[in-house]
Amino acid sequence: MARLKRDDWYDTYRDTEWTFSYVDRDAVFPEELSGGGNVPPDDWKHWDEPFKVTYPEYVATQREKESGAYAVKSAMKRSGVFARLDEGWKSAAKIHFGVTTGAEFMAGVGELRMARFALSPAWRDMAVFGMLDEIRHTQLDLVFAHEFIDRDSQFDWGQKAYHTNNLVSVASRGAFDSFMANPGAVDVAIQLPFTFETGFTNISFVALASNALASGDVSFANMISSGQTDEARHAQQGHPTIEILMKHDPKRAQWLVDKTFWMAARLFSFAMGSQMDYYAPIAQRKQSYKEFLEEWLVSQYAKQLDEFGLKKPWFWQEFVDGLDTWTHACALGIWYYRRATYWRPQAGVSRRERKWLVEKYPKWEQQFGPTWDLIIENLANGEEHKTHPQTLPWLCNCCQLPIGSAAAPNDPRSPVRSYPLTHAGQSYHFCSKPCRQIWWEDKDMLNQKTIVERVIAGEAGGDSVEAVMAFMGMDAADQGSDAYNYAWVDEYRQVPPVSKAA
Ligand code: MN
Ligand code: MN
Repeated sequence: MARLKRDDWYDTYRDTEWTFSYVDRDAVFPEELSGGGNVPPDDWKHWDEPFKVTYPEYVATQREKESGAYAVKSAMKRSGVFARLDEGWKSAAKIHFGVTTGAEFMAGVGELRMARFALSPAWRDMAVFGMLDEIRHTQLDLVFAHEFIDRDSQFDWGQKAYHTNNLVSVASRGAFDSFMANPGAVDVAIQLPFTFETGFTNISFVALASNALASGDVSFANMISSGQTDEARHAQQGHPTIEILMKHDPKRAQWLVDKTFWMAARLFSFAMGSQMDYYAPIAQRKQSYKEFLEEWLVSQYAKQLDEFGLKKPWFWQEFVDGLDTWTHACALGIWYYRRATYWRPQAGVSRRERKWLVEKYPKWEQQFGPTWDLIIENLANGEEHKTHPQTLPWLCNCCQLPIGSAAAPNDPRSPVRSYPLTHAGQSYHFCSKPCRQIWWEDKDMLNQKTIVERVIAGEAGGDSVEAVMAFMGMDAADQGSDAYNYAWVDEYRQVPPVSKAA
């Protein structure tokens, strides 16, 4: 039997729509799940993306990628590479597994939302592939993290993180819920593929893979790269969606992009920033987090906004200013609250590392040096107990990161303060004006208590350090500690800390 040429059947195969005769269109595509808003239904017929893959092609390519990733994994396992990996890199890998594994699964839920409720058949087809992609990424993360559990139980947080109330999990779970798992199809396409994947993960995973390679973790680098080719394809769902929404409701499109950008930028300042500026061994650092974001996000992403007729977000200046401070405030906070993390934070403030930080961030010594010096002094005097917090961090009601993590001490341009508001007789506090505004406009987070609010409300089984640790799912073996057991303090015992010497 003669076979049809691909061109003769492809569009029928991927873009066939039903005409409903027994139910209303609204019953099939309810507004809260599809989110078409004021776009005329017929306009979605123009939804188009460039990849145009068929199922047999998809399966063949994915099979190749899968066998490639697992082949490298087993070769690396035989080489016994784990014993030679730097503790700082292992921490970067643990953050990745803890924050990303569950997020890949939630991205799968977002893709499923589009696979069922998106407003054009071509889009729904594309989302089916996207959903299969995200399930594959979840599985890759789970398997790759699992390999190390027998040597280091913190790697179990790849599986466990989102099933706990750990501080970091609560913050990232809230953000990912709002981008991926909760919204209707149109909002998912703009928040997840357009803003989060195209703007953030697709570029930063390239940096992460190169850091992994430099650290000798070929297996991890290969796992990330295997997923990124999928992301590049399914992220294309964002462009046609925003093009159509811009024609009918540019204000809504702009809002979706802006708020997602802000939440992603807050999250990345600790999840990626601390890896790039503090955990990566200094010899392997190619760019600072700020340089990386300036090159890829500030210039490339801003160009993309322009292409689609979008403006720069209203908080652009706050975001750009934050490139100097957020990461350092987060890294300091993470190290200080190290017991509450499921990795071993590297302080990253040896003299050589501080020199690097000042080269990249000229105000670093002025802003963060004195606080680190106080910590160093306590450690050098054998008073390690003074370097642990006595209280919980005060958390932002929107991004759930510590208030102060969007600021810098000793700098009037970024004061350490909260931005409060009162709603229905209750006070809420925010790390920044944009977090306050996003919370107010959407009120999505109205009933989402921070860990501190749960402790105060008596929902955490007590307010002692031990009770809060248990509430966060942190048993003794999981609790974080200094990556090098304070060996880096030795050089300061001979010569006093930087700001004291000055
Ligand atoms: Mn993915
Ligand atoms: Mn994705």
